[in-house]
Amino acid sequence: MLLLECPYCGVAGEETEFHGGGEAHLKRHGPESSDADFEGYLFHRENPKGVHLERWRHVNGCGKWFHAARCTRTLEVFGTYTAQCSEPPQEIRDKISAKRPGWTWREFS
Ligand SMILES: [Zn+2]
Repeated sequence: MLLLECPYCGVAGEETEFHGGGEAHLKRHGPESSDADFEGYLFHRENPKGVHLERWRHVNGCGKWFHAARCTRTLEVFGTYTAQCSEPPQEIRDKISAKRPGWTWREFS
């Protein structure tokens, strides 16, 4: 069971309280970008067996989008943070690095 806490209203609940929205921190490319960049934005996702940064929405609560750092293998949640953050907060990155030495995810580690 996946347990998440909404960083806006502080409600903690099972994943049925929330709705997953895919990978977080995608770099958006518009129609003026190269074909390769646009294809990557539309179709390429990380899909790791391990730490993943995801978007979630508190559908049965405040309705806001937020980000979560969790392990896809163990379902351990390292933390949640607001959708306005352009990268995971340092405290969450430190928590991940302490439990998964050598962890990297795109430009984050
Ligand atoms: Zn909420």
